[in-house]
Amino acid sequence: MTLFGILIIIHLMYNLLNKFIFFVSVAGLLSITFTADIPVLMYHHIRTPSPTDNALLRDLSFSPANFSKHLDYLAESGYTPITLKDLPHTIPGNNIKSKTVILTFDDGYADNWQAFLELRKRKLKGVFFIITSQINKPGHLNASQIREMSQSGMEIGSHTVHHYNLSTLKVSLLESEVVQSKVVLENITSKSVISLCYPSGKYSPAVMAALKTSGYRYGRTTLPGVNLAISANYEIKVIRIHNYSLKLPL
Ligand SMILES: [Zn+2]
Repeated sequence: MTLFGILIIIHLMYNLLNKFIFFVSVAGLLSITFTADIPVLMYHHIRTPSPTDNALLRDLSFSPANFSKHLDYLAESGYTPITLKDLPHTIPGNNIKSKTVILTFDDGYADNWQAFLELRKRKLKGVFFIITSQINKPGHLNASQIREMSQSGMEIGSHTVHHYNLSTLKVSLLESEVVQSKVVLENITSKSVISLCYPSGKYSPAVMAALKTSGYRYGRTTLPGVNLAISANYEIKVIRIHNYSLKLPL
């Protein structure tokens, strides 16, 4: 082989190596992007709407049969429901699977028990945000149900004590809503509570700061969007499930 032939081969090999490095780099970047997108679904009532419901209650009511269909669809599409507690303590580049989803349930309604039973039957997880002043009240989950849900792997998060608009509260009341609800839920579950759902989606920089100093790692909003898998996120976005959301946008 001539020197020219050897130089041609070296040149071709160099080009191939460059292409390989480029491919690996792009694949790496893509995998980080994919693993970072985590859709968070927002459910309220898991109940069959009644003709006497007002428009709001109807919109917030998703039937157990349709909820079951959502879970079937997630399983068929290869999605794994996790909780906020399952998110790694590191920034993207983590080991979160590409098809990960978080199911959240607001307000601690008694009918969320049906959602829990369906999740437990399938060995799946969800995050339930509880208004602590409503525990044991008619239409809401009771303390022993919340404990059992937690023991079965569900994450119990705070939806504050009274469901006030946190963004308008003076500091002392804001702190008691955030801290007291956490204490009550930790006493019931004997586990740390690290997530809070802002009542009516209302929050502010002061509210986020209060969450951080009180030991929360996540604040869930009602803003539409998907989320980065990061260690602390006080602006978790959601996909809102309406009564008519029969097909998941995933
Ligand atoms: Zn609420």
